[in-house]
Amino acid sequence: MDKKEVIQIAEDFIENSADNRIKMESKAPSELVGEKIYDAPIFGFCEASDEVFAILKEPEVIGCHFRSPREWLPTAQTVISFFLPYSEAVKASNREQKIWPSWGWLVGRVEGHRLLRSLLLQLEMNIKKAGYATIVPTLDKKFFSITEPIEELCGEPLAFTSNWSERHIAYLSGLGTFGLSKGLITEKGIAGRFGSLVTELQLEPNQRPYEIYNAYCTKCGACVKQCPVKAISIEKGKDHRLCGIFLDKTAEKFKPRYGCGKCQVNVPCESGIPGQNK
Ligand code: SF4
Ligand code: SF4
Repeated sequence: MDKKEVIQIAEDFIENSADNRIKMESKAPSELVGEKIYDAPIFGFCEASDEVFAILKEPEVIGCHFRSPREWLPTAQTVISFFLPYSEAVKASNREQKIWPSWGWLVGRVEGHRLLRSLLLQLEMNIKKAGYATIVPTLDKKFFSITEPIEELCGEPLAFTSNWSERHIAYLSGLGTFGLSKGLITEKGIAGRFGSLVTELQLEPNQRPYEIYNAYCTKCGACVKQCPVKAISIEKGKDHRLCGIFLDKTAEKFKPRYGCGKCQVNVPCESGIPGQNK
């Protein structure tokens, strides 16, 4: 099994899955029914033994609770990371609504998340079938993600953290760099979702076409203006607490869905790298 085959499995899955279409049952506006949730994924690959993973254990990056690829799977050779960009229909719907998330975005966030999990399981199954042990860290029982401060994590209170971070993995795999809004700006933009797998399958790592963590962000401030609750500022970046409070409000209002994503639309990094957009 090679990179081409891995990518092909994912592309076929996303292209052909009935769950990649917005369904009537979601009660979405008729013009959205039948539209795609995601466009084709883009992929990045990183060596599981890469020393850069040690950086993620530093307190100012993630912290000592971050588990490196070989802590998830001792025989790991490669980390596979991918980005699923939201379709134009999903992004356009959220551009129109100024404060609350659009129906298309809510479906993209919740049904889209289910599809992302299915894609991860599909890739895991195929790579295992080819004879290589593989783990999806975010679906493993050892995975955790916290929003409330926990006192004794690495000896200091930490909140809004996890022991595996899709965006950091994507950054190390060459997929993109961080924006002011804390999303990751890729060649397909910032609006979308990330996933990753750790595997024994040996695949050539990608070169990272950047040297600093925020190389693609121009600090234009468009995401600052977009945020309905002023959770982003040029000086301090994103306040996860304020953002979390707003997301909880959307969860109450749109139960069983939630989401916002205003900082990912109507911005120069929405669908590409600012300055490099077609
Ligand atoms: S909108 Fe501008 S400041 Fe915000 S993340 Fe994108 S490029 Fe950076
Ligand atoms: S997701 Fe919404 S609330 Fe959170 S930072 Fe982005 S625009 Fe603000």
